[in-house]
Amino acid sequence: MGNKDYTVKQLFELEACTNCRICADVCPAVSASKEGKLSAVYRMKGLKEIVKGRTGLFRKLLGKKGLSDEEWKEYGNTVFRCTLCGNCQEICPVGIHLKDLWLSLRHDLFHSRFYPEKIDMIRDNLAESHNVFAEENEERADWVEDMKDAPEDGFIKERAEVVYFTGCVASYFPLAQKIPVALAEILDRSGVDFTLLGEEEWCCGFPMLGAGLKDMLQPFVRHNLEAVEKKGAKRIIFACPSCFQMWREHYPSIVPIAHASEFLMDLVRNHRVPLKNLDMTVTYHDPCDLGRGARVFDAPRDVIRSIPGVKLVELSQNRENCRCCGGGGNLEMMDSRLSSEIAKRKIDEVLDTGAQAVITSCQQCVRTMMTYVKRNKVPIDVMDITQLVHRALKR
Ligand code: SF4
Ligand code: SF4
Repeated sequence: MGNKDYTVKQLFELEACTNCRICADVCPAVSASKEGKLSAVYRMKGLKEIVKGRTGLFRKLLGKKGLSDEEWKEYGNTVFRCTLCGNCQEICPVGIHLKDLWLSLRHDLFHSRFYPEKIDMIRDNLAESHNVFAEENEERADWVEDMKDAPEDGFIKERAEVVYFTGCVASYFPLAQKIPVALAEILDRSGVDFTLLGEEEWCCGFPMLGAGLKDMLQPFVRHNLEAVEKKGAKRIIFACPSCFQMWREHYPSIVPIAHASEFLMDLVRNHRVPLKNLDMTVTYHDPCDLGRGARVFDAPRDVIRSIPGVKLVELSQNRENCRCCGGGGNLEMMDSRLSSEIAKRKIDEVLDTGAQAVITSCQQCVRTMMTYVKRNKVPIDVMDITQLVHRALKR
């Protein structure tokens, strides 16, 4: 596919880069690795060369040969060592849509066969099991069995007002499964008529885009749409910002969608969630796809402030400038050491606030920060917003 993997707008945007390098200053991958070649500005330069090296006229006029296999491979590896946090896009003074460009570039690298081997594993897992971890898809809602008073129907109804789309990470990872358990209990206590999709839920497609596997997406989109339509739902909610982003940007709009923090705020405002006092000081980490991506900054903070006794202190870099936790862009699969180095910097910033817990609104952020905290015995709690509300629920 080559240059056809980019839109005309993206090809123009390549030329708009002024080489100002501000994007390198805010890149978590650069600061954690000290490698300038992981920056957006380096990637832009390389991409310009690639695009021009492919066109016959430029090759003739400028004598461009294009990259050797070795150079392609090296460049490809730097492209996948990025969390897709979007901080470079947020700061870019020219307004280049860098995040979309990184996705097109990954797609191009897949077509050009210069991608890390682990991408093949992601592709095979998704094709065979419809989830990114090669787990049995029938076991998607098995976390319900861990609940104290699990209902007989396992929260899977034939029809319901609301569908809770759980996502792969929360469905299968023990560290993240506390999130759906908490949210399901809150919804149940608040009298919300909701259902899970269970084995009828397939991966939302987000890991495919991050891996350059966009060509696989459409059957997954069609399947998930049909599964939701069968439930007759009037709303879909997501605790995972990446699933939420996929449905916002890549699915046709069939019913209104909301992130769990927004849905919870509505429930709290309508006095449907009885909350007790929690004597805690917490800070809030804006997940990249929910904050910078969806501009949802206030709903989670309003939920936190609505819990009596809870004091919210802000991180030094917050809202649209919030630093990534290290868990995005499939980075953990590609370079777990770099992901952990980024998490370290995040947790150091959290500790500077003096808070007892860091709250976020994302299962992947919880998993990344919690893994770092547990491995390094850091005395801080890591919780999703649903877990904080669950802790404050009046029994
Ligand atoms: S998306 Fe984030 S990690 Fe990737 S280049 Fe931009 S700032 Fe760096
Ligand atoms: S901030 Fe934007 S214009 Fe400046 S170097 Fe980075 S991509 Fe180019």
